[in-house]
Amino acid sequence: MKRNKEKPEGRTLRQDAALLWRALKIWDEIQPRFWLYGILAPLASTAIPYFGLFLSSELINELAGARDPGRLFALAGIAVGGGFALSVLSRMLEGRKEIAQSYQWVKQEEYLNRAQNGFQYEHLEDPKVQLLRSQIFADSNAFGGGLIYVYHAFPGIAEQLFRILLSAALTVSMFTLRADGTSSGLAGWAASPAAAVLMAGLILAGAAGSVRLESAKMTGSQEAVFELAECNSRVAVYGSLWGADMIVFGLNRIVTDDFRRYGLRPEWVRKLGKVGEKYGSLLTLLRAGMDLALFLFVAAKAYLGAFGIGSFVLYQGTVSRFVEAVGELSGRIGGLRNNNRFLAQLYEYLDLPNNMYRGTLAVEKRDDLDYEIEFRDVSFRYPRTDAYALRHVSMKFRIGEKLAVVGENGSGKTTFIKLLCRLYDPTEGKILLNGIDITRYRYDEYLALFSVVFQDYMLFDLPIGENVAASPDYDGERVRASLIRAGLGEKLAALDALAEERGTRAAALAVGRGYDSEGIDLSGGERQKIALARALYKDAPFVVLDEPTAALDPIAEAAVYEDFNRVARDKTTVFISHRLSSCRFCQRILVFDRGRIVQTGSHEMLSEAEGKYRELWTAQAKYYVGSQEE
Ligand code: ADP
Repeated sequence: MKRNKEKPEGRTLRQDAALLWRALKIWDEIQPRFWLYGILAPLASTAIPYFGLFLSSELINELAGARDPGRLFALAGIAVGGGFALSVLSRMLEGRKEIAQSYQWVKQEEYLNRAQNGFQYEHLEDPKVQLLRSQIFADSNAFGGGLIYVYHAFPGIAEQLFRILLSAALTVSMFTLRADGTSSGLAGWAASPAAAVLMAGLILAGAAGSVRLESAKMTGSQEAVFELAECNSRVAVYGSLWGADMIVFGLNRIVTDDFRRYGLRPEWVRKLGKVGEKYGSLLTLLRAGMDLALFLFVAAKAYLGAFGIGSFVLYQGTVSRFVEAVGELSGRIGGLRNNNRFLAQLYEYLDLPNNMYRGTLAVEKRDDLDYEIEFRDVSFRYPRTDAYALRHVSMKFRIGEKLAVVGENGSGKTTFIKLLCRLYDPTEGKILLNGIDITRYRYDEYLALFSVVFQDYMLFDLPIGENVAASPDYDGERVRASLIRAGLGEKLAALDALAEERGTRAAALAVGRGYDSEGIDLSGGERQKIALARALYKDAPFVVLDEPTAALDPIAEAAVYEDFNRVARDKTTVFISHRLSSCRFCQRILVFDRGRIVQTGSHEMLSEAEGKYRELWTAQAKYYVGSQEE
């Protein structure tokens, strides 16, 4: 499946505003200070040049006019003191803003993580959702596409709005102040109301022109963003690739080629440069024309005494800033609209339907672990597939029993467990807990009944204790007991010695070196025992081992299962394997074949009867001859 390279959907301004509004609401939720610094910091920094401009013009007016020393000193004092105070305030707010901004990425990740945790499992297995997720991460990491962009654009927009307001406010007097004297000729005409209207029109036309040019520039850079987005989703993958295969097979040829194909192509980099040059020179031309008109207008009015020559400096500054800010504002709004494509992508992800019914019944807490689960004629098809992965499965778990689920790969064993843990709901039939449909229970309480060690169990490069307890807080003694019961007693003694040397405890040693260069290396078997210890630590009434031992040889797997059988004590334990020998100690064995339970019984019973079990046993026996024979 490929990244969706469609050009931006023609959204209306209203739709764009709605997308943006939602992003602002998200920031408001995850980092409320964002508003405060996003508005106050630009307000302070924008005020500085206007303050300076205004006071310089007043000073010049005074120098060219009355030259009152008291007033001159006062103005100079305000200019210096006020400028200083504003700069200090602005620097302080900018500093705060930057600190707040440095959390933005973590805040965003935390938000996405929280949202994901509420997703139903089905989405995790959906390739379309996986692609969407990796695009969101790639775009956000590479150029802040999405929420981060909004975060950064917001103060910029506020800044341009303040510039426009301040410029306009300081420019008004240019039109309203009237000269006392009259004059004929060009200067007289320039000071007339008609000239004022014409000048105002020219300024607005200049602003409109700069908006047009900015938006044309934006269209050009939009193309660049699309190209970059494609490049980035690939770079995000390749950036993390490094391994022996890259060297032995020279796989980096593919990577290099991909960079050439999807990377920054010179022709459109050149194109982008040309777009910038063309609009840059048009803008300069436009501004030069406007400046000339302004010069004539202001000079004439100053000449006729409408205002002092200092104001000439002020108006020159405010008008050009006004035009510039209007253009900048439109450019930034264009940037935001561009970015909306990434927001739309993000919302598509956040809004994935969560239509799994979650009931409200509490699961009774029982010390006697008297939880009876029944599959009643359960059939199941994975979403987007036609074939049934489970068909008419009916069975009951007996409390405290050691149950085996065996069958060839693809026969439905894992699917059976996914339904048991309610990662999916049956397509037909029902699963009942103590006689009540499991969908009617609270989901979290139902999940609390299970400890499952999956084939692809996850360990983080975090301290052993955290991995075992699945929590940053753990009970050290319970962690140790679980590790010992999972068969890591000897290893633990060695780790104790190492921990003592380092002045810490064994449970605090990190598994792997992802975050800690002093983390410990564990073999595959040891890692798996940590996963088993986690299952024991949770102390749930049901424990399921879904072939976490597949990487071991059959004999080692059987040994792990038998050991686990001994420590699982009163729990209802389900052992899953495609190797029959691993499970033959179980009192009851369910044999799966193409989604059905085809046989049930003990190893002795099943190996004597005609059927799938004996067929598989005979086929597999050659691996164990001499070691497993009865
Ligand atoms: P087992 O655990 O016995 O190896 P599974 O329960 O994993 O078997 O698979 C049973 C069937 O369901 C297989 O045909 C498999 O291809 C299919 N299947 C498993 N997972 C998915 C999925 N996420 N989406 C679609 N089909 C799946």
